[in-house]
Amino acid sequence: MPLQYDGGPAMPVDLRSDTVTRPTAAMRAAMADAEVGDDVYGEDPTVNRLEQRAAAIMGKEAALFVPTGTMGNTIAIKLHTNHGEEVLCEAHSHMMDWELSMMAWFSGCLARTVASEDGILRWPNVEHALQTGGPHHAATTLIAIENTHNMAGGTVYPLEAIDEICEGAHERGLKVHMDGARVFNASAASRIAVDRIVRDVDSVMFCLSKGLGAPIGSVLAGTRKDIDRARLYRKRLGGGMRQAGVVAAAGLIALADVPDRLVEDHANAKFLAERLSVSPRLTVDPGRVQTNIVIFGIEKLGCNSVEFSEELKQRGVLANGVNSTQMRLVTHRDVTRADCEQAIEGIEQAIRRFRPQTISTGQ
Ligand SMILES: *Cc1c(COP(=O)(O)O)cnc(C)c1O
Repeated sequence: MPLQYDGGPAMPVDLRSDTVTRPTAAMRAAMADAEVGDDVYGEDPTVNRLEQRAAAIMGKEAALFVPTGTMGNTIAIKLHTNHGEEVLCEAHSHMMDWELSMMAWFSGCLARTVASEDGILRWPNVEHALQTGGPHHAATTLIAIENTHNMAGGTVYPLEAIDEICEGAHERGLKVHMDGARVFNASAASRIAVDRIVRDVDSVMFCLSKGLGAPIGSVLAGTRKDIDRARLYRKRLGGGMRQAGVVAAAGLIALADVPDRLVEDHANAKFLAERLSVSPRLTVDPGRVQTNIVIFGIEKLGCNSVEFSEELKQRGVLANGVNSTQMRLVTHRDVTRADCEQAIEGIEQAIRRFRPQTISTGQ
C-alpha cells in the first residue's frame, strides 16, 4: 500500500514518484487561457494541437490524448490483440503488476512474462517464450516493452535491443507496444531522440504527468488507422473528456520546456545513490542508476519497507517501498539538490532507529 501523506514536517521532500510534480506558473496560466471545445466531437483546438505535436515528436502518424498511462496501455493492448491471445511482457512490468489486470479485464488476454534482472527484454529470451498457437496454445500477438523500466530502477533499453525485438516481432507478424511512460527520461539519458527510440514500435504511450510535470494526462501514438480506433476505445473506457484543452494546455508546455531538464533529475538520482552507498547498512549500487529512479535494499536494517517509510515520513522524507525489503526514490522537477541533501540526512537518521541485526554464526 503506497504511503499517503497526511501532514508532518511542513516541507517534506517527496520522492514517492515523479507523478507528484505540481503544474508550474506557466502551465497554470496556459490552462486558464486555453482555447477549448468539445474534444469528443474532435473540436478542442488545444487537444488537437497537443495530439499533433506529440505525433510529430514521436515520428508517428497520429496521437491520442488519454487521461492516464494505464488507459493508454490498455487501449494499445486492445488495438493489437484479440480475446484469448497472449501478451508478452517483462515479469515486473507496470502492465503486469500495477494495472489491475487490465489486459485480462478489457482485452481478454493473458500475460506471458519473461523475467529479467534489469527489466530489459532481449530478443532471444522473447523468441523463446513466444507461443505460436496450434491446438494447445493461444498465440502471442503482442510484445510490450517498458522504457524506462520502472521497477528495475529506471533502466534504459539499449537501442539495439528495441530494434532487434521489433525486427523479430515484425518478421513473425507480431506487434510491439512501448510503455514509454518515461521514454523522455530514456532519451535524455541516452541522448537519442525519442522518435529514433520508438521508430519501429507499432505504438507508444508516454506520460505527461510524470517527469514532464503536467498535472494530468498521457499520450498514445501510432498509425492513423490505429489511433482512429483508439479514440473509440477511449470513449468506451470513459475517457472522452470534452473541454480537455484546459489540461492539454499544460501538456503542450510540458513537451516544449521540460525534456531538456530531465538530466538534472538524473544527476540528483545519481547523487542520492552515491551518498547512500556510503552507508554499510543499505544495499545501493550507484552504477545501476541510469535515470531518475533509485532502488535500494534495507534488508540489513531488520525492518520492512512500510516501517522504514513511516520512519522517513517522521523526518520529512516521503518514499515508497517496491517490495518488503526495497525502497524506491524518484527525483523530479520539484526536488532540488538541497532537497536531496535533506533526504539523505532523513534517511541516515531513520537508519539509526533500527538496531544492527545480530549476525547468527550458526553455532
Ligand atoms: C506511471 C506508469 C504508467 C501509467 O500510470 P498512470 O498512473 O495510469 O498514468 C504506465 N507505465 C509505467 C512504467 C509507469 O511508470
